[in-house]
Amino acid sequence: MQVFDSINSLRRDLDAGRAGGAMVGFVPTMGYLHAGHLTLVQRAVAECDLVAVSIFVNPLQFAANEDLASYPRDLDRDLELVAGAGATHVFAPPVHEMYPTEVLTTVRVAELSDPMEGAARPTHFAGVATVVAKLFSIVGPCRAYFGEKDYQQLAVVRRMAADLSMPVEVVGCPTVRESDGLAMSSRNVYLDDAHRAAALVIHRALQSAAAAIIAGERSSARVRELMATIIDAEPSTVIDYVEVADPDTLEPLDELVAGQQVRLLAAAQVGRPRLLDNIAVTVPTGL
Ligand code: AMP
Repeated sequence: MQVFDSINSLRRDLDAGRAGGAMVGFVPTMGYLHAGHLTLVQRAVAECDLVAVSIFVNPLQFAANEDLASYPRDLDRDLELVAGAGATHVFAPPVHEMYPTEVLTTVRVAELSDPMEGAARPTHFAGVATVVAKLFSIVGPCRAYFGEKDYQQLAVVRRMAADLSMPVEVVGCPTVRESDGLAMSSRNVYLDDAHRAAALVIHRALQSAAAAIIAGERSSARVRELMATIIDAEPSTVIDYVEVADPDTLEPLDELVAGQQVRLLAAAQVGRPRLLDNIAVTVPTGL
């Protein structure tokens, strides 16, 4: 595995690989890797000839009041993990390599970026879309692997790649969880024991909502209410949103219909971190 900190050297190497017929896989991350990230790398390794992993805590996607300075970092450990997972290239640029001058060009994916995470973090998805566009331009034609854990981000990136005809196939990968259901996240290190236990309520609320839909509930409003009640019952959580949304447009749904694909999403502050989770459910037919 080779580690690159310059745009030109990574680009040259991947271009040479593609010229020799290699399919390039790409996994963008902010580092402090866990088993969730590694499943993306493993899938890329299984499906591609060369696999590049980027490790870059992108300042553009953090607002001034957010945790950019304290975001957890451990490059040596990350390098061991990605080498073990079979990556061939790591791109770990310093900030001045990615942003040598003030950024005047940004990418904004309208509508998909506005609700939920976008409402809570108004500049976040422009920061994400811009750095991912930049990384796609650096890596070149590839398959790029993203986690469903950040479901809205996956939708934003997919739409950006399609709208701008980027030579990238965006691949969504299932959320990896701890054995008790907590979605893995680099920010879980911020949880103390009591908040770690409280955080389970988010996944429990999503599962209860899915179970209610499967048992015949057709009112999205009641499904939202159910999720909110379950999360609110845990005193150390503060709900940001609970949503019952169309999986592609992310628009809130009203009455559910048989056979419909639905995404249930939630975000809540649990002690220090703000945690996100989501699951898919299909409205059953024939009830
Ligand atoms: P991050 O380092 O948090 O920016 O995440 C990098 C990539 O890993 C994103 O595509 C995330 O959606 C994905 N990811 C993070 N956590 C998980 C998880 N628990 N399961 C699957 N993918 C994940």
